Amino acid sequence: MTMPHDTQTSTSVAPQVLLGNHLKALKLPTFAREYEKVALESARDHADYPRYLLRLCELERIERERRNVERRIRLARFPQTKSFDTFDFTAQPSLNKSLVLELSRCQWIDTRHNCIALGPSGTGKTHVALALGLAACQKGYSVAFTTAAALVHELMEARDERRLRALQKHLNTVKLLIIDELGYVPFTAVGSELLFEVFSQRYERGATLLTSNLPFDEWTSVFGSERLTGALLDRLTHHVHILEMNGESFRLATSKKTQRRQAKETNEGDTIT
Ligand code: ADP
Ligand code: MG
Repeated sequence: MTMPHDTQTSTSVAPQVLLGNHLKALKLPTFAREYEKVALESARDHADYPRYLLRLCELERIERERRNVERRIRLARFPQTKSFDTFDFTAQPSLNKSLVLELSRCQWIDTRHNCIALGPSGTGKTHVALALGLAACQKGYSVAFTTAAALVHELMEARDERRLRALQKHLNTVKLLIIDELGYVPFTAVGSELLFEVFSQRYERGATLLTSNLPFDEWTSVFGSERLTGALLDRLTHHVHILEMNGESFRLATSKKTQRRQAKETNEGDTIT
């Protein structure tokens, strides 16, 4: 690398430059970005050196935590971001709101319990699963989101490519595994076995959240085997929180509301003209 003509010896390099390098090596980007501004503020407030450093440390930690949450959300592969802020509990009266809010505190993930959301299409199962997944990411848990069909497909592919162990290991290490939409697609015998193994390996080792449009007594139609379904339900429901979502489809209710409003507007229009 060529140096500019007026480069002086390294001892006279501006301390800001050296400091910048050290902070980069120490992975303290917020220190590097904020130290001058915080120094001015601290001088203005007559804050002493420990307080100055404390402010910088706090900023660094806040920023680091924010980046960690973002990374966990990215790794979880949520198809969309949904939270409880946009969930209308009054639209789903069959759902136990206090249980959902309790689950959003994530203690069940520490105790490696499971959660199953059951109900027909459009009742908000995926929304609740995504919101619980997001809450887990925000509280520091690793999460993986997938659908039952995609997971079975991925497992079969991994098996064919002789990397099933690696995928199983990944699935075993996440703190919360969310498997959405069990029930729409029946599995082949091999697919069922592979999915069963996932549940079996996670049993009492990690929390699993499953959503299904089918009541338990119809799960055999998905797995094909009564014996396997029985063994699976046995593990899954040992420590389980069940979210019953048997109300009306939110999509349907919303479109009905829109239609009613439009009809009303048309009628009102009729009277005016
Ligand atoms: P399911 O997975 O049960 O089929 P979804 O969670 O996909 O249903 O819900 C369908 C759509 O309706 C989504 O856009 C979701 O965000 C919305 N939705 C469902 N229930 C509610 C609710 N109670 N409050 C707000 N939005 C809801
Ligand atoms: Mg869904």
